[in-house]
Amino acid sequence: MLNLAVILRESAVAHPAAPALIFEGHRISYGELDAQSDAVAAALTARGVRPGDRIALQLPNVPDFPVAYYGILKAGAIVVPLNVMLRAPEIAYQLADSGARVLITWSALLDEAAKGAAEAGLTELYAAGPAPSGAARPFAELTAPCPGPLPLADRDAGDVAAIVYTSGTTGRPKGAELTNLQLYLNADIPGRLFDLRRDDVVITVLPLFHVFGMSSTMNVGIRFGAALSLVPRFTPEAVLTTITRDRATVFDGVPTMFAALLAHPDTAEYDTSSLRVCISGGDAIAARVIDGFEQRFGVPILEGYGMTETAATITFNPTPQDRRVYSVGRPVWGVEVQVWDPDGHPLPPGREHLGELVTRGYHTMRGYHGDPAATAEAFQGGWFHTGDLGYADTDGYLFIVDRKKEIIIRGGYNVYPREVEEVLHQHPDVLTAAVIGIPDERLGQEVKAFVVTRPGRLQDADAVVAHCRERLAAYKYPRIVEFRDSLPLSGAGKVLKKVLH
Ligand code: ATP
Ligand code: MG
Repeated sequence: MLNLAVILRESAVAHPAAPALIFEGHRISYGELDAQSDAVAAALTARGVRPGDRIALQLPNVPDFPVAYYGILKAGAIVVPLNVMLRAPEIAYQLADSGARVLITWSALLDEAAKGAAEAGLTELYAAGPAPSGAARPFAELTAPCPGPLPLADRDAGDVAAIVYTSGTTGRPKGAELTNLQLYLNADIPGRLFDLRRDDVVITVLPLFHVFGMSSTMNVGIRFGAALSLVPRFTPEAVLTTITRDRATVFDGVPTMFAALLAHPDTAEYDTSSLRVCISGGDAIAARVIDGFEQRFGVPILEGYGMTETAATITFNPTPQDRRVYSVGRPVWGVEVQVWDPDGHPLPPGREHLGELVTRGYHTMRGYHGDPAATAEAFQGGWFHTGDLGYADTDGYLFIVDRKKEIIIRGGYNVYPREVEEVLHQHPDVLTAAVIGIPDERLGQEVKAFVVTRPGRLQDADAVVAHCRERLAAYKYPRIVEFRDSLPLSGAGKVLKKVLH
């Protein structure tokens, strides 16, 4: 028997007065978070919600998110977090696909949410937030205090605790069924690796609807009794102000966040001396960004690698002392990783032995919700196929080269966009860059770079091409460079290449 909400209950019993959440300077203690989520569990149960029912949750990073999240779990129901950027048809798809019976949303999102709910035939709609709840019932109806502590609903370790949709970087988001055990282990293991403690304050700006924020930041923080300092929308100023105000010690981010912080002109005006460790994942981080950030802020960035289907961590750089910079680290406890050739044979270590990363262990999802064919394909040969290409070194540290789906084949040669992006990032005028393949009659595909320059720098396509030509083989360097003011980002802050062309 294992209900994931035990991570909150244990911390609340051990130190009820310690802060669990900090939001706009207000503190909510573990005892209060436990009691408020008990209230949600009792209210949902009173309204007929039963273990195994799906409840969709579409909230920004505000205290109502963890209150509702742990409340849903305590009732034994399954959380379906929805990206706050979704439009009505996407909301309708995820509600219908997951079979959600209740949607808890945010008042400012209500127009789209109500349309999506109506399209999916969902009628039980609640809205939290400052604005009137309009077409929905107020979330406050679910938070009336109840006598507690409430017993946690019986769940098996292998029961699904959350259905989390993938980022949709390569196609339509897929609903990954994550179990109590895999989420529990992912709350436990990463926190041990970087020695998370009760007195840590964790910047929680990664969206809680995405697995990195939900599992690797929120659940890890709650499991170890740390304080989550919630930031609803990423801007470098918001993060720097919050670090300064709350004396934050840990910052989890995606690479675009570290790049934006590094590019900020006035970081010296803030006091970031409390930070002891930063964690990057979710996408490839450029070497220049790691090095520059560490130099500027005097704090190491530990890189991890994970995905929604593995909730999230697969590999992690253990401790600042053992890390290998530019590597995503080694498989964490209970996780095996192999590099396979296209015929399913494991490859030996070495950069020349590039293959698909496959993984198995306690951390993998039960399957894609309602899609046995996609599940069977993903688990071919008994290992979960990540769709990522990489290699291992002789000590088992892994290096990600690219996504299989994003390889460019130019005139019969493979070009890995991330290798080209790495070179683009070395150019002094380049702030950030994304490389894709575009159709080409003669070569099949041509290499195209989208570049955002640093403020006030020249947009000189010839200079960018020349910089790449000097550092990359003739078939790899981008012939086409397009300048943009910004790159399209997913809700989790990852570059959305599928909308570039
Ligand atoms: P979809 O599966 O819907 O196309 P997605 O794969 O982006 O979207 P996520 O589960 O959010 O959805 O992301 C997992 C992917 O992110 C990994 O498969 C990998 O490609 C990438 N990734 C995660 N961490 C790293 C890292 N440290 N370095 C490079 N890539 C990473
Ligand atoms: Mg994926």
